[in-house]
Amino acid sequence: MLEYSASPELLKDKVILVTGAGDGIGKEAACQFAAHGATVILLGRTVKKLEAVYDAIVAAGGPEPAIVPLDAKGATEQNYMDLADTIEEQFGRLDGLLHNAAVLGALSPFEQLGKEMFDEVMQVNVTAQFMMTKALLPVIKKAPHGSIVFTSSGVGRKGRAFWGAYAISKFATEGMMETLADELDGSSVRANCINPGATRTSMRATAFPAEDPQTLRTAAELMPTYLYLMGDDSLAVNGQSLDAQPKR
Ligand code: NDP
Repeated sequence: MLEYSASPELLKDKVILVTGAGDGIGKEAACQFAAHGATVILLGRTVKKLEAVYDAIVAAGGPEPAIVPLDAKGATEQNYMDLADTIEEQFGRLDGLLHNAAVLGALSPFEQLGKEMFDEVMQVNVTAQFMMTKALLPVIKKAPHGSIVFTSSGVGRKGRAFWGAYAISKFATEGMMETLADELDGSSVRANCINPGATRTSMRATAFPAEDPQTLRTAAELMPTYLYLMGDDSLAVNGQSLDAQPKR
């Protein structure tokens, strides 16, 4: 998928929400979606970072984005329903939803996994995505073609020692996507996963502190797959889990 080449106006007039848009892969995706014409809703927990992304998009001449400060750890179903109402009022529809925000939690032996940490990882990586998807589906169904993209991981397809709550949450993400995609089959909305693969971000640096980040692909290099799944070139793609880069 690295070789997909998006047309400059691929996402013109689309409204796309990106979670975790302030940093790492989400920041790059938000900027790239805007560069291809989308009005991007920047959702995240650190307002300063979201404002910096907002400024970068405007400075690059992209459509003016919107900022939604929201911490997936404490957000309630009501918060997501309010978000859906606001999007409907402002834009009338939502064309794309990129579930990107996630936390790593602690990498540790299974016997030492703390329940509190487990709950937090599941809350941010799974339950929040379930609540948001459920609340936003009606407004996504108002788009001519809706695309929901979840973010998976290699450890969401094959479990790995010590990856505990994070790996379990990514299996759940794949399961949520498949369940939803099967239900949406034949409708105007599609749901898929992206596995970014090892990428030069702060999450990766936390997981692999001894690794030289220069040996990793940048978030920018993954963008062909993100653009492909958000744009209308992937209208027939539903229920797939795509790799954004070849296996290392
Ligand atoms: P980063 O840690 O760099 O960025 C994660 C983003 O999610 C940040 O903007 C962060 O906000 C936001 N976020 C975290 N917790 C919350 C919360 N409670 N509420 C709202 N926003 C939150 O991670 P990456 O860019 O590396 O990862 C992006 C996605 O890709 C994740 O789903 C990750 O699991 C997945 N992935 C990454 C890989 C990699 O090698 N980097 C490999 C495989 C999968 P803030 O900036 O405020 O902390």
